[in-house]
Amino acid sequence: MIRIYPIRTGSVQIKRAQLKRRLGGFFRVLTDPEWTEWLPIHAWLIEHPEGPILVDTGETARTREPGYFPRWHPYYRWAVSMDVKPEEELGPRLRALGIDARDIQTVVLTHCHTDHAGGLRHISGSRHILVSATERALARGFSGKTRGYLPHRWPTRCDLETIAFAPTPDGPFSGVCVLTRAGDVSIVPTPGHTPGHVSVLVKDEGITYLLAGDASYHEQALLELAPDGVTLNPALAVQTLGRILRYAKTEPVVYLPAHDPLSIVRLSARETVPGGASIARSA
Ligand SMILES: [Zn+2]
Repeated sequence: MIRIYPIRTGSVQIKRAQLKRRLGGFFRVLTDPEWTEWLPIHAWLIEHPEGPILVDTGETARTREPGYFPRWHPYYRWAVSMDVKPEEELGPRLRALGIDARDIQTVVLTHCHTDHAGGLRHISGSRHILVSATERALARGFSGKTRGYLPHRWPTRCDLETIAFAPTPDGPFSGVCVLTRAGDVSIVPTPGHTPGHVSVLVKDEGITYLLAGDASYHEQALLELAPDGVTLNPALAVQTLGRILRYAKTEPVVYLPAHDPLSIVRLSARETVPGGASIARSA
C-alpha cells in the first residue's frame, strides 16, 4: 500500500496576477497591489513498499536572512513574501513523520524554483535527486538567477541527476520515466510554468494522484486552462493543462498542486478532478 504525506514547509504570499495571468503578464505581477492569502509550500513524501520517494524539498527558513534573495531581482523585491520557520523546513518535518532523510534514495524536483529546491541541504545524501535536463540547464549561472533560480544557494555536494524520459506511444504526456519496479510511480513532463517542469503520478487502488508542482497554482486554474502570471510561455502552460485534463478524463485523478490550500483536503478525501473520470466503487 502506498501513502502520500503532505510536507508543509511554511507559507508564501504572491500577487493575485501571478495566481492567474492578467494582461501585462509578468509586469502586471510586479505592479499588482493585490496579494493572495498565505499559501502553503508543499513537498510530498510517497511512502512506498520499495522505499520512500520525496517530491520537491520546499523552502528554507534562510529566506528570512537579509540578502538571501538577490536584491536586484524585481520579483523578490516586489512580488513575493515567504514565511518559513526553522522547524518548518524539510528536515524537521521528516523527523516529525519518523522518517530518516538518509533513507530517502529518490527525490524528484518538479522544477528548481527556490520554494521547491530550498530544502535540498536536508537530502543532499540521497542517491538520486532527479530533475529534467531542461530545468537543470536553465537554472545555471546568472541567467538562471534572472529566471528565479538560486543555484548558488544549493549545497555544493548535491548532484542533480537528469530524468531519462521514455517515449509514450499513447496517453497525453510526451514521455514517461517510471520510478518503481511495480510501475506505480512515474514522472511525466508538464512544461509551462517553467520549460522543464515535471509532475509525478502515483497510482494506488484505482486512483492516480498527480503531484503537480506548479503546473498550476490551484485546481480551478486547471479547470479554466488559465496560465499563471510568471510563465514565459503561456501557450505551452495551457497545452500542458489541457493534457492533464484529458488524462483526468481517462482515469480518476486527484490533482495536487504545491500551493493549493485545498490539495490536502482533496488528498484525504480522494476527491478527483471535477468532470473527469470518477472512482469505480465495488458493489
Ligand atoms: Zn515555481
